[in-house]
Amino acid sequence: NKEPFRLVLENISKSYPLIKANNAISLQVKPGEIHAILGENGAGKSTLMKILYGVIKPDEGSILWEGQKVEINNPAFARKLGIGMIFQHFALFESLTVLENIWLSMDEKYSLKQLEEEVLKTSAYYGLPINPKRMLHSMSVGERQRVEIVRCLLQKPKLLIMDEPTSVLTPQAVQILFKTIRQLASEGCSILYISHKLDEIRQLCDSATVLRSGKVTGYANPKNETAKTLATLMIGSEL
Ligand code: ATP
Repeated sequence: NKEPFRLVLENISKSYPLIKANNAISLQVKPGEIHAILGENGAGKSTLMKILYGVIKPDEGSILWEGQKVEINNPAFARKLGIGMIFQHFALFESLTVLENIWLSMDEKYSLKQLEEEVLKTSAYYGLPINPKRMLHSMSVGERQRVEIVRCLLQKPKLLIMDEPTSVLTPQAVQILFKTIRQLASEGCSILYISHKLDEIRQLCDSATVLRSGKVTGYANPKNETAKTLATLMIGSEL
């Protein structure tokens, strides 16, 4: 009678004054599964991610985490559960080094020396090497994203949420990131991969929830579906 899913969402809804951004969304993610949330701009992807990371509260619906019903009231609690989030816009300080930036955000306080070793070790292990001594302002967007990812991985997440992570990357850097994501998944970390890029999702993801206008239009195995089928779910059968 063991719950095989890491995360189960049941009928999650969230309204803003003019729009129902999430309308009874249900989905399930297993340990080690790379699950896509696929949808166009305005489909409700960011709203759902903010609910999962405790930034906003749903109006209705429930979240089951490892078989237990939870209320995720703030990001610190999300992190405590083991949920990590890579946002599209990074919250990093320009005038600090990589190490100082990571140190400032750690819930669990390491000494700077210990943390430097952890950053070197973790970044190398996941194929995203970074130099802890570099100043942020000298780094490209792709390198900054690496800092965000390593900072998240230091907390050993069980579920990593990535919001359009490839929008700032070169094609070569995308392949490096996908390798890291596959490595994480092979170690049992679940991934929620938010994107509207069909080719990437078909390359990377084991399963997908497709959203349109706040509603689920379908669940799919993106590796078995044609781009056309996925696009029809995403955009609407009228197109
Ligand atoms: P994008 O890729 O553009 O971020 P999305 O799929 O993430 O799109 P959401 O950002 O979740 O979509 O937005 C869903 C709908 O809710 C949109 O119509 C958006 O305008 C609306 N919305 C989002 N946040 C708010 C808010 N704070 N107040 C009012 N309406 C909002």
